[in-house]
Amino acid sequence: MIVARSVLSLYCRSLGRRPSSPTLISSVQAVSSPKIRLSGAIRVSFVRSSSESLSPPNRDSAGTAPIPGGSSGIVRRISFCQWCGGKTKHEVPDGEEKMRAICTLCGKIAYQNPKMVVGCLIEHEEKVLLCKRNIEPSFGLWTLPAGYMEIGESAAEGAIRETWEEAGAEVEVISPFAQLDIPRIGQTYIIFLARMQKPHFSPGPESSDCQLFSLSDIPFDSLAFSSIFVTLKLYIEDVKIGRPRFHYGIINKRPGSSPSDMRAFKLDNHLHS
Ligand SMILES: [Zn+2]
Repeated sequence: MIVARSVLSLYCRSLGRRPSSPTLISSVQAVSSPKIRLSGAIRVSFVRSSSESLSPPNRDSAGTAPIPGGSSGIVRRISFCQWCGGKTKHEVPDGEEKMRAICTLCGKIAYQNPKMVVGCLIEHEEKVLLCKRNIEPSFGLWTLPAGYMEIGESAAEGAIRETWEEAGAEVEVISPFAQLDIPRIGQTYIIFLARMQKPHFSPGPESSDCQLFSLSDIPFDSLAFSSIFVTLKLYIEDVKIGRPRFHYGIINKRPGSSPSDMRAFKLDNHLHS
């Protein structure tokens, strides 16, 4: 197998949350010194960015107001210790390089690590199931059923659970489809291809509607999150070539943009099987 190299770079901009005339700037950008090396099933590939009209979504999932806390990511300010309630101080601990919240009473360090968001891309009669969000962020916009993975469950179990909760659909996982890292907000999406065990779905409390969309009718101008936007675009590419692949990529916000402002993003280091 060949070491995988960076591939795809989409750079998308729009002028508003739901632009009526979305603007697309796309490019293929080879990265000369890739940060990522994978061996095994992933091989070198060069993928052209889509020429379809792209309209980036609004925010990434579950995004509560983050606080800039570093040069490359977002951390939340922790003022009190989660173990003893003591006040924290913010320092770089001995032997480390990053600023941490350290309890002034018990001395414990509050490490902040990325969260896993797991979900399903459900195929049914050449359509995919989307949910309209009934909660913030991205209220009223469409998404795949997905949410934070819980302690004690696997990624696939979490994706199945979230699908049940948000879409009232019982599904079985077919295969992993995409891992999309969003370093700036500390999230990693794991999306599985799945099928309904029964042809039934209905919106849960977090959804106001659930619908099956043919691929030509996916509402790209009103999707909730960049990760969902990228996932669906990659899925359409795979359908066109006639086989599902596994995709890895890094969603990077346009420099200078607010972490919660999805007017601009790019997909870097796109690798696929
Ligand atoms: Zn403490």
